[in-house]
Amino acid sequence: MSSDIRVRFAPSPTGPLHIGGVRTALYNYLFAKKHGGTFVLRIEDTDQTRYVPGAEAYIMESLRWIGMEWDEGPEKGGPYGPYRQSERKDIYAQFAQKMIDEGSAYYAFDTAEELDNMRQRMKKGGNPTWQYNHITRVHMKNAFTLPADEVQRKLNAGDPYVIRLNVPRNQEIRVEDIVRGVVVVKSDHVDDKVLFKSDGMPTYHLANVVDDYSMKITHVIRGEEWLPSAPLHVLLYQALGWENAMPRFAHLPLILKPEGNGKLSKRDGDRLGFPVFPIEWKGQDGETASGYRENGWFPQAVVNLMALLGWHPSDNTEVFSMEELIQAFALERVSKAGAKFDLEKARWFNQYYLRKTAPAVLADMLANEVDTSKGQNYLEKAIALVQDRPTFLPELKDDLSFLLSAPQILDEQILAKKWKEDSREKVQAFMHHLAQVDWQSPELLKQATTEFLEAKGWGFGSVMPLVRLLLTGSMAGPDLFDMMDLFGKEETLHRLEQGLRMAMA
Ligand code: GLU
Repeated sequence: MSSDIRVRFAPSPTGPLHIGGVRTALYNYLFAKKHGGTFVLRIEDTDQTRYVPGAEAYIMESLRWIGMEWDEGPEKGGPYGPYRQSERKDIYAQFAQKMIDEGSAYYAFDTAEELDNMRQRMKKGGNPTWQYNHITRVHMKNAFTLPADEVQRKLNAGDPYVIRLNVPRNQEIRVEDIVRGVVVVKSDHVDDKVLFKSDGMPTYHLANVVDDYSMKITHVIRGEEWLPSAPLHVLLYQALGWENAMPRFAHLPLILKPEGNGKLSKRDGDRLGFPVFPIEWKGQDGETASGYRENGWFPQAVVNLMALLGWHPSDNTEVFSMEELIQAFALERVSKAGAKFDLEKARWFNQYYLRKTAPAVLADMLANEVDTSKGQNYLEKAIALVQDRPTFLPELKDDLSFLLSAPQILDEQILAKKWKEDSREKVQAFMHHLAQVDWQSPELLKQATTEFLEAKGWGFGSVMPLVRLLLTGSMAGPDLFDMMDLFGKEETLHRLEQGLRMAMA
């Protein structure tokens, strides 16, 4: 199925991509895939002062790790490229000129200093929110206040200028938002925003609208922080004569701190011990941030938890694969209210996916980090024995360590408690018995052990906890007979012998 639906994820490469951005990308992706549409990646890099090297590559790697491949974008190309705004300068200049010619935009020559002075003066006069608009612009240096030949002279002389939107007066601007319904704003509340600067670069607003139009974007799905810009964007569509091609908007709710008070920040992550970035970030300025990927999270878990931060299915299903999300997703089911980040739930998802992942896959993921000398089969069997407990891969690695190599030390405290005068004799008798046992299955080992203990008249607790300690170094670990079965006869006897030596040292 293919359709005309086209959405875009349009990050600015100003640093690592916050998980709020990942969620925006995900909702765009799900919406596109659900409707057989196209998912575009567009890099909004017109603000050179905020450009951070490495951020674009980071964004792409993050999207790919999550499993969201774009259909059109930088590197990949597509029919409406280029997909990096810095490579589209000429397009914006052309439309800025068109707006000047038609009177919907105008030149202004105020310096940063002059603007600042005006703001300060207004502040002192009790007007802290001064805006450049149809009222205030008569006091400024622009095409409304300067004679036409003076404007031309300044342009010819190469004086710095900006192009501002000439916001129409007394209009009601309607923003139709799929999530929020209709929002109506008076045009008198919108200021004459800068659209283009004399360095040849557009501002976000102009570039964003021109690109959404030129790239035939049908739905703009983005974070709530852009809602205040939406009326301005509607005005731009009108000014450029594109009103009939205006995309539909959907502004996604904020992701809130676990406590619900305010936007989730990197500091919250540091405070509560979880990443707020998909993958690790190492900035050229030395700034670093930890990522879900490096902390042993599964991309499926991150997808699942992101999906439910602001969207809810029609039933109570919680676990969704990407495919299932694509089927179930609907913008109409995105909520207006901010979504609280639930750390417990997030962990639960990760544990769920860790349990569900095939031991062979986990073995591959850990191949460079654990002792693989016993071979693939052994590793997979060991993983299967412990994979139900941990939440994260590094924990799985810890749980595996004593299954993959014999302990080098024994837990002193437990040893002191369990070691009795006759312990050595009992363990040796057990070893002797084990040496005769047919090593077939955990069940048979258990049966043989029970028979041995009964024949001796020894309680389970008088020998077996000690056996566990000698085999693994502590009291942790899976079922004793499962472990012995994994080790095999030779290794089990070897570990017990070595354990006895350590216990008596
Ligand atoms: N470049 C903007 C950002 O960084 C895009 C906003 C939008 O989607 O319109 O989020």
